[in-house]
Amino acid sequence: MGTALYIAAHPDDENTRLISYLSNKTKARTGYLSLTRGDGGQNLIGQELRELLSVLRTEELLAARSVDGGEQFFTRANDFGYSKHPDETLKVWDKEQVLSDIVWTIRKFRPDVIINRFDHRTPGSTHGHHTSSAILSVEAFDIANDKNAYSKQLSQVTTWQPKRIFFNTSWWFYGSQENFEKADKSKMMELDVGVYYPLAGMSNNEIAATASSQHLCQGFGRPLERGSQPEFIELLKGDMPSSENNLFEGIDTSWSRMTGGEPIGKILYEVESNFNFVDPASHLPSLLKAYTLLEKTESSYWKDIKLEELKNLIISVSGLFLEATSKDSFTNPGSDLTVRLELLNRSTHKILVSSSGLVGSEPSYMDLSLENNKKKEVEMEIKVSEDTPYSNPYWLNDKWSLGMYKVDEQDLIGNPETTPPLNVYFNLEIEGIPLTIERPVVYKFSKPDKGERYQPLGIIPEATVRFDSKVLLFSDKSPKEVPVRVTAHKDNLKGKVQLRFAEGWEVDKEFQDFEIKKKGEEITLIFKITPPMKDNEAHISPIIHLGNKKLNKELILISYDHIPTQTVLLPSETKVVRLNIEKVGEHIGYIAGAGDEIPESLREIGYSVHMIDPSSIEAGSLDRYDAIVTGIRAYNVNEELKFKQSFLLEYVKNGGNLIIQYNTAGRRDKKFDNLAPYPLSLSSGRVTDETSDVIITAESHPLVNSPNKISEKDFEGWVQERGLYFPDEWDARFTPILSMHDEGESPLEGSLLVAPYGQGNYIYTGLSFFRELPAGVSGAYRLFANMLSLGNEELQNNTDIKGK
Ligand SMILES: [Zn+2]
Repeated sequence: MGTALYIAAHPDDENTRLISYLSNKTKARTGYLSLTRGDGGQNLIGQELRELLSVLRTEELLAARSVDGGEQFFTRANDFGYSKHPDETLKVWDKEQVLSDIVWTIRKFRPDVIINRFDHRTPGSTHGHHTSSAILSVEAFDIANDKNAYSKQLSQVTTWQPKRIFFNTSWWFYGSQENFEKADKSKMMELDVGVYYPLAGMSNNEIAATASSQHLCQGFGRPLERGSQPEFIELLKGDMPSSENNLFEGIDTSWSRMTGGEPIGKILYEVESNFNFVDPASHLPSLLKAYTLLEKTESSYWKDIKLEELKNLIISVSGLFLEATSKDSFTNPGSDLTVRLELLNRSTHKILVSSSGLVGSEPSYMDLSLENNKKKEVEMEIKVSEDTPYSNPYWLNDKWSLGMYKVDEQDLIGNPETTPPLNVYFNLEIEGIPLTIERPVVYKFSKPDKGERYQPLGIIPEATVRFDSKVLLFSDKSPKEVPVRVTAHKDNLKGKVQLRFAEGWEVDKEFQDFEIKKKGEEITLIFKITPPMKDNEAHISPIIHLGNKKLNKELILISYDHIPTQTVLLPSETKVVRLNIEKVGEHIGYIAGAGDEIPESLREIGYSVHMIDPSSIEAGSLDRYDAIVTGIRAYNVNEELKFKQSFLLEYVKNGGNLIIQYNTAGRRDKKFDNLAPYPLSLSSGRVTDETSDVIITAESHPLVNSPNKISEKDFEGWVQERGLYFPDEWDARFTPILSMHDEGESPLEGSLLVAPYGQGNYIYTGLSFFRELPAGVSGAYRLFANMLSLGNEELQNNTDIKGK
């Protein structure tokens, strides 16, 4: 009966070795509190970013916990992207709310020990979210037991004082193994987390590596590790344990910890030491006796936890199989649903289902006796109540801000996910002892190429609606035909669709009628949208009218093999942008990098974008392009590209225009060979504040004058960051165009560099166009158009003259 809480900032920060060790070796109730859900990260396995990435990464954490045995918690803090310093982090987060959520988790989970992943004493040395997680954890340790702190919580929980708080240190925090060997270790404990579990046939580190390999979208798939391995934790507060590896020293973690626990413990220790692996059901009478005794104890924290654990033991030893499944993956509030129950007792003990039904409603049937290994199947017709909430991650129900998700209901805060809305209860009598088990209604299916699968049952509206893209660009005054796609989630749906739009924009039809016969079918309605004359940004959202009902949700499914399929319902809308943009040149060659949507964005404003496979590049093959752009990290992900660089530079020499977006340099090869025609040295310099001032230093350069005049205004409305991996040294033939910096730092000049080479131009930029263009940021488009136009303006002038 010990409890340990591990605290860090992001999904994948957690040390699964230690979590698995605490859970499986120490057998503590172990939790991981990740302050954020990791929205700011990238995604190696799919398209989900930002809020959708938060859903995927939440599920990856739960998958990791199901392997290492931990539980999972969160605060409302939003991972808004890279932050260099906790001061910045705590300005964007609502510090009070995040601290309140940590205190809440401590009061609810009641950890005896807290372990921080990061050091609260070294701000600026790692991601600001990391240091903030440690700073706030230490603060929470100090105030969780203070009844004046967040006193509103005390109607639902009591104060709690954890006994100790540690920092999970390692040589890495000391810069080198040598430094760490020399460090003062009087406050450190060393645990061997490489222990072997003979019953599982696995080492702790094999479990830990399997757990962290669930973070697939972050590229955390890794080999399993075996063998002895030290782990260090440094005491921050509380008394130092005298014994070598007992974090819980001084805490009674036996059954005596709870009132009335001793006789229960006696029964269970007996079962444990004489466990019959051949016939586990032989322990059922003892377990039922312990369960009955536990039920009679006064209500307490441990009572609830141990009742659940005992129930699971009872189910396991008796081989009891209970499930409630649906043949449909989705249903709507107010609909009828057939739920199929499968019940099977695989022991010789007497098990009776005295009643069963949907939680919150009357029992559907009574007195079903489960005989040994005789399967019972029952179909239950249920009515999904009209007020059943839609399936959606609860933190996405309300509009969120850059730094915080909005969750008003205190009970939800901290929960990893939304609890399933439809659950079936089974009132059992096992050898005469009453016991209730609940199971969520899940969708069960099988696929020839996958086998049997389960996924959460989705509660969704009768119809959902979507646009093809999140941003629509209008680079001139001509109207665009915009498809609006409506999907029915019940048969025989009739209604009409209306677009809600902002002043200045025009839509050709007020309403369009539709009729869909079959559930699951999608139809397309075309609306013609005319932009205003002047620059403008607005949002357009479709409304489905079904009688008096108005629906506006877009259905998004997040489906991967390593997580349960997630149903997300967000307001359907698209950003519409009217930008007056001048451009010269038409044919752009694009060499893909680590995945970005820039080619799509450039097509939106009228360029012909041709994807170039590096293996097809040869002398002269590039001459037909007005400009060539390489995607982010193209040279990092495409080995072959480095060998084609001479052709790219040759293209520039002959009058071409080459734009290289950021690449990262490893520690050793800081200077990429021939990445640029002149010396250029990459660094990790970045400007993370997307609102930081930008100064145009090369005011008269064509890049900021032609064909679009760029001003400070063009740097308004940027998202997430200014840019990253800026070069820090360059040849004198380069002209730096811009200067920018994060608060309290010196200006960086390397975000946009240009140099003439032969007849052409070479541009290197770490500006985050890969984020800004898909977000529809006008200024970024105008600047990008200038980069593409560089050197082509003369062409244009000549044509004009010829034309005249
Ligand atoms: Zn992190």
